[in-house]
Order: sequence, then structure tokens, then C-alpha cells
Amino acid sequence: MPDRRRPLVAGNWKMNGLGASLAEIAAIRDGVAAGRAGSAEIVLCPPATLLMAAAELCEGGPIGFGGQDCGVEASGAHTGDISAEMLKDAGAAYVIVGHSERRADHGETDSLVRAKAAAGLRAGLSVILCVGETRAEREAGEAMSKVSGQLAQSLPADVPATRLVIAYEPVWAIGSGVTPTPQDVAAMHGFLRERLEHQLPGKAAIVRILYGGSVKPANAAELLGLPDVDGALVGGASLKATEFLQIAHVYQASEVTSSG
Ligand code: PEP
Repeated sequence: MPDRRRPLVAGNWKMNGLGASLAEIAAIRDGVAAGRAGSAEIVLCPPATLLMAAAELCEGGPIGFGGQDCGVEASGAHTGDISAEMLKDAGAAYVIVGHSERRADHGETDSLVRAKAAAGLRAGLSVILCVGETRAEREAGEAMSKVSGQLAQSLPADVPATRLVIAYEPVWAIGSGVTPTPQDVAAMHGFLRERLEHQLPGKAAIVRILYGGSVKPANAAELLGLPDVDGALVGGASLKATEFLQIAHVYQASEVTSSG
């Protein structure tokens, strides 16, 4: 991995977490501050209800925050929506767009995802754009055409590479305990890098490509050590400080080796 791509381990809490869960966020903060997360950049995406309190709790510390979704407009008559500007105001530096649960539960299309990515960029956030195929698409040999289509349709034309993160999340691996083979992950990440080079000529090497889908302490070293895998988007295992820190800790040894 080129030095300029600092690994990123991001936790997606989904619709989990009450006020009492701030204690878990404090435990993650303390673990990262104590060096238990290696040299990776650490970002947590709690539910919007906890974002501001979590960001205040960790102010000045080593953890960044993100939203899990954003509206397209900056403000206005959109009951229930949260704008990218609001996320930024609450302490976010990132926003996830195009997560497969949003695509499935809310019918989000690639063009809506692109508008949300543009909204995140407009607000000054970095965007974590999720792509991934279903099991049926993989079994039909359509995984690469599916994700390249999502990438082509969901990326705003003028996206700055420095504020773009791609998360490859096979839908069938999310929350299932099943992961693709390391060979399949490496092949997809290499393919995504090639497609990024096509869409952002000369900039693809800057963009971090995360793997997401049932990452746990037991498989993190293997998955995150693959070529073109620049970190992880972690769902279930990010809810427990000990598991999340163990996942991020895989970067301890490799970064020490590469910088030394
Ligand atoms: C996710 O939803 O982004 C995710 C990767 O979930 P899990 O780690 O639980 O599979």
C-alpha cells in the first residue's frame, strides 16, 4: 500500500445505540488513545441521535465520526431527513452513502446515491461510497459488472479523490458471518482500483478501498492484509470496543514494518 493511503477502519453502528452506549464509544476512544488500534485512522458512524454527544465526548481525541446517510438538500421541508450540513455541524467528518441496507430498505437508486455523495462533498464531508453485489449476482458471474455499474453511476463527476472512500461490501456477506474468499476480495479490490483509474485518471492510488461484510477479529488480519484493501467498514463487531480495537490492531505490525 502506498504510504499516502493510511488505512481506515470505520464502524457502522446502524440502528443500534442508546445514550448508555456512549460508554462503549468512550472505551473505543480510550483504546485508540492507548495505541490499541495501531496506526489506522478510526472513524465511528453512530446513529444520528448519538453523533453530537459522541463527538463531544471524543473532542480533541484520535477518533473521527461519520453519519450513516444524508439527505440531498442542505435544509428545508424534508421531514425526518438529516442533511450533510447537519452531520458536519454535529461533529462528522464522513458520511456513508449507498449502504446496501439503504438501497434495499429505502429503494435508493444509484442516482440518488450520487446526489447524496454530492451533498456530503458540498458540506465538506468525506464520502464513504458503498458498492456490492447480491449472492444471486455473484453466482451469475455478475459481481464485477454490478459494482462497476454502481461506481460509474454513483460517483459525482467532480469528486475529489482525497475525500472519497469506497467500501466494497458484498450484500450476502453483511451480517451473515460469511465472507468471500481472500482471492475474491483481492480480485474485486484490484478491479475497483482499475475502474477508479478509469473514472478518476491519475487519482485512483489516492482512494482508499475498504472491505466490509462480517469482518471480525478472527478474519481481520487475512482480509485486511490483501492487496488493495485499505481498511474495513465494520458493522456488528464495531459495537463492542474490544472487538473493534482488535480488528484495527491488525495494522500495528504492518505499519511498523513499512515505516521502519
Ligand atoms: C455493514 O453493514 O457495513 C457491515 C459491514 O456489517 P457487518 O460487519 O455486521 O457484516
